[in-house]
Amino acid sequence: MTAAYQYETHEYDVVVVGAGGAGLRATLGMAEQGLRTACVTKVFPTRSHTVAAQGGIAASLSNMGPDNWQWHMYDTVKGSDWLGDTDAMEYLAREAPKAVYELEHYGVPFSRTEEGKIYQRPFGGHTTEFGEGPPVQRTCAAADRTGHAILHTLYGQSLKNNAEFYIEYFAIDLIMSDDGVCQGVVCWKLDDGTMHVFSAKMVVLATGGYGRAYFSATSAHTCTGDGGGMVARAGLALQDMEFVQFHPTGIYGSGCLITEGARGEGGYLTNSEGERFMERYAPQYKDLAPRDYVSRSMTMEIREGRGVGEHGDHIHLNLSHLPAEALAERLPGISESAKIFAGVDVTKEPIPVLPTVHYNMGGIPTNYWGEVLNPTAENPTAIVPGLMAAGEAGCASVHGANRLGSNSLIDLVVFGRAASIRAGQIVDPSKPNPTLNKASIDKAFDRFDYFRNAKGGVTTAELRLEMQRTMQADAAVFRTDKTLKEGVAKMTEIAKKLPDLAVTDRSLIWNSDLMETLELTNLMPNAMATIVGAEARKESRGAHAHEDYPTRDDENWRIHSVAHVDGADVTLSFRPVIVDPLTTEAEGGISLKKIAPKARTF
Ligand SMILES: Cc1cc2nc3c(=O)[nH]c(=O)nc-3n(C[C@H](O)[C@H](O)[C@H](O)COP(=O)(O)OP(=O)(O)OC[C@H]3O[C@@H](n4cnc5c(N)ncnc54)[C@H](O)[C@@H]3O)c2cc1C
Repeated sequence: MTAAYQYETHEYDVVVVGAGGAGLRATLGMAEQGLRTACVTKVFPTRSHTVAAQGGIAASLSNMGPDNWQWHMYDTVKGSDWLGDTDAMEYLAREAPKAVYELEHYGVPFSRTEEGKIYQRPFGGHTTEFGEGPPVQRTCAAADRTGHAILHTLYGQSLKNNAEFYIEYFAIDLIMSDDGVCQGVVCWKLDDGTMHVFSAKMVVLATGGYGRAYFSATSAHTCTGDGGGMVARAGLALQDMEFVQFHPTGIYGSGCLITEGARGEGGYLTNSEGERFMERYAPQYKDLAPRDYVSRSMTMEIREGRGVGEHGDHIHLNLSHLPAEALAERLPGISESAKIFAGVDVTKEPIPVLPTVHYNMGGIPTNYWGEVLNPTAENPTAIVPGLMAAGEAGCASVHGANRLGSNSLIDLVVFGRAASIRAGQIVDPSKPNPTLNKASIDKAFDRFDYFRNAKGGVTTAELRLEMQRTMQADAAVFRTDKTLKEGVAKMTEIAKKLPDLAVTDRSLIWNSDLMETLELTNLMPNAMATIVGAEARKESRGAHAHEDYPTRDDENWRIHSVAHVDGADVTLSFRPVIVDPLTTEAEGGISLKKIAPKARTF
């Protein structure tokens, strides 16, 4: 029987789900072109996780020394461990300066150099001369509050351009036509319990990552992979989910982030012997080697008995040798976090840190216009009409097997912008909206009603913790055949318990029990795709470091994994990596020889 929920219908040209950096940049771009645009968000826009981004946004502005987009592209290709799609990586590196200048003109208060140019700091993996030269200062920063500055600016600009915001509306599911066109989204308004159906010619999923599938994560508690969950339930694919980035410097205990900018400004890591061990692992780039590399090196030190602290289970990050004025000017936020979360005065003592889940390279597959792909064997880049994805929820794929620091904020604005450019070309405001598929709406309400009335044997908090602990133990920095196999078996049992959840609050107003339950049903398919993908991939590449297969295997594994998740079942297939750039060397592009796969050393 169909659950009877009354709902209000809203019609737009475009509905963007999510108001982080990606969602707001897409919303602004759509609204600027006169498309009737709604932005639906479960948290207030400026509380989206983007607000926490500290370090900065990468673009080859050359404000601090020579740089160019080809070098940025090379670093991104190498950073991705040759799993990124080359056309998308070229688009990112080429468009990055334009996107940052746009932000500047919209009003982002960037830090400045003496001459008044945008200040740029060094970040891991960003180099000169196609990896042959010294590190480059490419990361544009607004002190250590770059995400905060971007979010506030984009929100203000979106309002100015008459985008309409639906704040504290929780998107439950996509509305799909029988022939696979996305027609809109079904939402629950959290503060008054009313139901809303948004009809749109284009839906953009910008719902962020799913860090909360793990026990220790730097991301907000709201990062629950809702877009991935909706896509999985619509029978669509998730891509490269086995690649999960651990940030080397989460504060020990809380997981709260200390930006890589801290090492960019001269901070360094030490073990229990006081040794700067990164000099051993990465003689050239030391503490500024990419994140997967630093995280693995830290884990090695701890495993070999050189961790610090009572249990020898973490590492020290030293900043106290830096001038106090520099810390106060360039890193005020992290000085505060270290005080609050570790009780440490950074001008005097080292900060206790540990690799912590930080970023999801995988997500909803898209082309570099943000259009969602439904890859099939015949057509690996087939498009899902009416659906786009951008930001951490998407997978364009520019980060491949490992994202470089400060390449996410630039991904948000470049691809949020690209999605709006593309929508401007294909959405016709003069056409009527399609007739909504009633069966698809009913299905969303039925599922909602099932969980609202769930009377099973396990609470949401219990099952979530089981999932988080299993993912943390079995799909972490170090992976072996044995831990992954056991992890898949455990996670399958855990996912099977979803229909047996118990929800105690049956109301519709501010029902956090029900909201967290829906979020758990979204985290689960993301987690399942992650661990099954990891178990299947018999090589080491980027963030996926497999102890039983320690080397990269380009012949067999330079391919994207594509996961379809149905309950506890995951079906894996694969799709080729796009190896051709957008432009040839003759057209001013990068030479293919420069970006041919080679060993990734630092
Ligand atoms: C602590 C921290 C520091 C970082 N620092 C940097 C940095 O310095 N440089 C860098 O490049 N990257 C950094 N990153 C990574 C980067 O910040 C994130 O990848 C990026 O901000 C994600 O942005 P987003 O727009 O995709 O999603 P988010 O900012 O996570 O926003 C998601 C949005 O989706 C909405 N939403 C989600 N689900 C629903 C639903 N069901 N219904 C309605 N709305 C929904 C939310 O309300 C929110 O508005 C950092 C990440 C963290 C966690």
